[in-house]
Amino acid sequence: VVTRVAAARPEEIRRHNLGLLLREIHQHGALTRADLTAALGLNRSTIGALVSDLVQLGLVEEYIPPGRDRAGRPSHVVAPRADGPYVLAVEVGVERLITAAIGLGGTVYARQEHPIEGHARRPDAIVAQIVAEGAAIAAQLPPGARAVAIGVSVPGTVRQRDGFVEHAPNLDWRAIPFAAMLQAKFADPVDVLVGNDADLGAVAEHQRGAAIGYDHMIYLNGSVGVGAGIIAEGRQLHGVGGYAGEIGHMTINPDGPPCHCGSTGCVETYIGEHALLRAAGITDQHGAEAIAALFRAAEAGEPNASAAVHTVAVWLGRTLANIVNLFNPQAVVVGGSLAEVVRLERLTVESELDRRAMAASRSGVKVLLPGLKQDSALIGAAELAFQTLLEAPDVPLPAVAN
Ligand SMILES: [Zn+2]
Repeated sequence: VVTRVAAARPEEIRRHNLGLLLREIHQHGALTRADLTAALGLNRSTIGALVSDLVQLGLVEEYIPPGRDRAGRPSHVVAPRADGPYVLAVEVGVERLITAAIGLGGTVYARQEHPIEGHARRPDAIVAQIVAEGAAIAAQLPPGARAVAIGVSVPGTVRQRDGFVEHAPNLDWRAIPFAAMLQAKFADPVDVLVGNDADLGAVAEHQRGAAIGYDHMIYLNGSVGVGAGIIAEGRQLHGVGGYAGEIGHMTINPDGPPCHCGSTGCVETYIGEHALLRAAGITDQHGAEAIAALFRAAEAGEPNASAAVHTVAVWLGRTLANIVNLFNPQAVVVGGSLAEVVRLERLTVESELDRRAMAASRSGVKVLLPGLKQDSALIGAAELAFQTLLEAPDVPLPAVAN
């Protein structure tokens, strides 16, 4: 087999370098030209030219830092432009819809959260609500600021290539062409990207949260549903269709309780919120308030609630042991309501992990709480939405407007 490798043309090299530079500023915020020169390994005049291109494109601004009067020329600071492009980040949860305007550098300009239940969970209702929230957010922002993409987090299996939701069991969605449905609401071909909540949470925690610098990390997201996002060798592990990481549906007891996915005895039926409530003997309540009340009771030492959290902590430790044996990560970030289980019962979780994980893998792994609190998936949705701009900052994107 003869592989022909085409030589890169100058405009491709320029675009590649523009992307690298913008990505650096997106990741770290304001940087000096000297920082950028060191980070990219390009010479000062090339950096200067690339920065002025990004200034011209309206993506960054450059200024001389105030209050510096020592000898020598201060290095110019390059920062994301405050009224530059933003993305509309959306987290479709089982019980709430969160929308936010997020700019380069990860700055959240506006954020709205609404409870959803019943018919409001249907895909067409969610699409309509996203469009309405996007317009409401745009009205709050300075004139001129424009959304250049929409990133959506969904608690289900999402086909990566086209944002088709195969199955979101806890929303009762099956075979929903979600990205296409949302796109159809706009006159221009708006960039809409859809991802799985745990996958997006992993990206966000790796890039901006508790796992910065850990290129082998897992984000385990557990609320009503349980799933994982996997970063291996610094890259996201998607699998062939984009469905990798469904740890919540690993069978841990074939004779266990029935699961929403159609199987029985899945991890989710032992550490998901329904399992937690069931373990506490609560059958008549569900939802975020019931879970919050249960954690408060456990913290106050109420016996049923404490025992339920302990039971889930044991199963969480077993789940983490499977994850650690399988992936040998440096860190597992535990998010969603499972973060509260770790906070209340860390010793139980860690000792079960000690008991069941292979010693070589166990010794190096940290169990961390999310650095982005409850917003890991939302921030991850913004990172997904920014991909197109970061790959080709010089190609104009249609604004999200209808
Ligand atoms: Zn299942």
